[in-house]
Amino acid sequence: MSLFHSVIFGPIQSRRLGTSLGVNLLPVDNKLCTFNCIYCECGWNTPGVKPRFNSRETVRQALREALTRMAAEGKTLDVITFSGNGEPTMHPDFEGIIDDTLALRDALMPMAKVSVLSNATLIGRESVRRALMKVDNNILKLDSAFDDTVRRIDGPANPDYTVASTVENLRKFNGKFILQTMFLRGTFNGEPIDNTTQREVDGWLALVDDLRPEKVMIYTIDRDTPAKDLHKVSLDELNRIAERVRALGIPCSVSG
Ligand code: SF4
Repeated sequence: MSLFHSVIFGPIQSRRLGTSLGVNLLPVDNKLCTFNCIYCECGWNTPGVKPRFNSRETVRQALREALTRMAAEGKTLDVITFSGNGEPTMHPDFEGIIDDTLALRDALMPMAKVSVLSNATLIGRESVRRALMKVDNNILKLDSAFDDTVRRIDGPANPDYTVASTVENLRKFNGKFILQTMFLRGTFNGEPIDNTTQREVDGWLALVDDLRPEKVMIYTIDRDTPAKDLHKVSLDELNRIAERVRALGIPCSVSG
């Protein structure tokens, strides 16, 4: 498993986003997330760790330095991406940091998009929703239409998590978001994991059709996962799912 040991990381070549400069709002020495996904590239959450965030000013300065350096070297960037060691919207100054980032982007790297990768657990907060409405790529995770599957795959920390309330909050974006879904199979804690069954894909597609996101991104496991008995879904299968999304009139990208 790998953690990001700095506020700014990269630029890296992202499968889904192009040349991406990463911003990590989470602790630099442990993961902090409202989910505990069995496939998380950062590993498991550490129980009992107190949340510590990089301050808004620390983030602003680090980003300004990185963008200034890249601009001086004549380098370009496709995207500034908020991801890192957990869930970026947990940061108490998330909206202010987004405002700073958009201002720095406009001044120093105007061609770069600003993307946020979020698990959508905190989109019920007004300030989080406002911030996500301002960015170019508001990428929100939903791995299943079924509560029991989300519990198994994503391990939400909130015992009251439901897909229905998440969907109600997603609706408030009026389609201005990109839906991101991980497809995978395997077993975990002796229970089967598979969000590619007919019931799963039909239920998920019904939500996609209902929510009408601007785009859907589907992908499968690419690196080491904290749960060991997990398997990739083939590119053929992902492409078949993507075709069904496109048949709804919604663009869909696939990373196998
Ligand atoms: S939502 Fe993202 S950061 Fe959080 S546990 Fe899942 S994969 Fe990891």
